[in-house]
Amino acid sequence: MINQHIIEGLNANAGEWGHNPLPNYCENIDGLNPICFCGGEHCLEQFISGTGLTRQYNQLAQTKITGPEFFTQLEQSNPLAEKVYHLFIDQLARSLAVIINILDPNAIVFGGGLSNVLRIYEDVRKVIPQYTITADIEINLYPAKYGDSSGIRGATWLAK
Ligand SMILES: [Zn+2]
Repeated sequence: MINQHIIEGLNANAGEWGHNPLPNYCENIDGLNPICFCGGEHCLEQFISGTGLTRQYNQLAQTKITGPEFFTQLEQSNPLAEKVYHLFIDQLARSLAVIINILDPNAIVFGGGLSNVLRIYEDVRKVIPQYTITADIEINLYPAKYGDSSGIRGATWLAK
């Protein structure tokens, strides 16, 4: 959005950031399927989403835990959960740095279930400058004002 107007783009594809490949791809998780439902390979949303986070953990741990169970493991200082969480933060930082390097937005608003995990904001804010062209930058990250279901709300609006 610019000046409170939604920017759709020439082809109405603006905002489909989640289906770009993860920048500086260096993940090496044996057996992790690289193909997204869109047909792309290593799409962002396969990594920097609740599903992506647990998918990576479950592949490494050979488990099938849910997002809330993952965060319980993290709170209990499970070393693998901490490793995957820090990998996730680095993936998110790399991904946001691309947006900051191109648009340098006043604010970045998070949606989805992980937007409720407040520690992510501070943790990723510390890592982003490793990937931006300027290290000394202001970064404003916020949860969506009306909650974590803004994507569903927007889809409903489009269907009307
Ligand atoms: Zn995709």
